[in-house]
Amino acid sequence: MLAEIDKRHIWHPFTQMRAWCDPAHEPLVLVGGSGAVVWDAAGREFIDGNSSIWTNIHGHCHPAISAAIAAQLGKVHHVSFLGTTNEPAIRLAERLVKACAGSPLTRVFYSDDGSTAVEVALKMALQSWQLRGHPERTRFAAFDNAYHGDTAGAASLGGLGAFFDRFAPVHFRPVRVPSPADLEAMPAAEAGRIAAVVIEPLVQGAAGIRLWPPGTLRALREWCDRTGALLIFDEVLTGFGRTGTLFACEREGVWPDFLCLAKGLTGGSLPLAATLTTEEIFSAFLGEFEELKTFFYGHSYCGNPLGCSAALASLGLFESENTLGNLQPKIGLLADELGALASSPRVKDIRQCGFIAGIELQAAPGRDLDWRAQTGARVCAEARNHGLLTRPILDTVALIPPLCIEPAQIRKAVAAIAAAIATVLPGR
Ligand SMILES: *Cc1c(COP(=O)(O)O)cnc(C)c1O
Repeated sequence: MLAEIDKRHIWHPFTQMRAWCDPAHEPLVLVGGSGAVVWDAAGREFIDGNSSIWTNIHGHCHPAISAAIAAQLGKVHHVSFLGTTNEPAIRLAERLVKACAGSPLTRVFYSDDGSTAVEVALKMALQSWQLRGHPERTRFAAFDNAYHGDTAGAASLGGLGAFFDRFAPVHFRPVRVPSPADLEAMPAAEAGRIAAVVIEPLVQGAAGIRLWPPGTLRALREWCDRTGALLIFDEVLTGFGRTGTLFACEREGVWPDFLCLAKGLTGGSLPLAATLTTEEIFSAFLGEFEELKTFFYGHSYCGNPLGCSAALASLGLFESENTLGNLQPKIGLLADELGALASSPRVKDIRQCGFIAGIELQAAPGRDLDWRAQTGARVCAEARNHGLLTRPILDTVALIPPLCIEPAQIRKAVAAIAAAIATVLPGR
């Protein structure tokens, strides 16, 4: 019944709707969740192996996050951030800056999702150069296979051809670089026109869980310091403990000029994003009204008090539940469990960065799968029969569980993938 209405009226993201609407397809209608588990109306339970598209941190319906949202619901749902302010947004900004202690990041600009967090950084970077007397710095450097969101500005940076190439006529063109090492070869004249470099720290998620070599962020920071370009870290996926530290960039002791946060910011409860920047960037925008230095940018729901309350509760849980401390042995367990899959002739590669893992499948050693056969999707569909909900990126099965997942659930999740691979790609 519900599924039929869905098929009649809804257009799902990143979804081939002909296959979705096929009478044989039974959409999974989720009705509840607790901890790392979600369930449907029939009571079928699934481990949320994809953290509900990389957003969930402390588990579903965590009572502390529910209580924080409920308390704010009784006060006010939303008030404008243009011309007025509110307590949850103020407290969250202070808390986020504290989370970046030791960094030059002191200013918080709120928006709604990962794409807008990146848009904000792009426009701030561009305008800051105009205001600081370098209008020639108009180009953005972005990496092969990058993913920074789907709005036109963020998508312009994207390096995944299948998603973005068709929109090229309306995108701006970044300076596309294969890897940070290639920036070294950039002629000084060209480097002098770069407004900012943008990177997903440690791991490119949407590219299929691709890991950067250690030292990448440090090298990038040095190149930016040398050439004057600003540095944008898109931690929309990697933020909030996903890689083992609160922010991925802590692992290399490097801070950007812009830090983009979204997905896990509210623990996976409400849409909210933040772009953090430095006092140096901020102060370039200060002036008399008629100087028109103002950052003329914003969204209706900037600084939404419900989202900010949820985010404060989520950050509080990192302390009260020792989330990062408890996570470390679970990262090791995940590595051990995945290690047992590595010997399968159907597994080409296993890539893991903290609680972000990808299992790349192959037809046989030395022989890749034909992506058109959607083997990754079929493995994930089969994994549901073993109680695991997750998504592939082509033929890489992603396993990105909530940080609260329990050891037994980690074992069950990896076992479900192993069983699904054995069913979809039989014969060893
Ligand atoms: C998901 C993602 C985005 C886009 O975030 P949305 O909330 O989907 O707009 C941007 N950058 C990275 C690295 C992401 O993983």
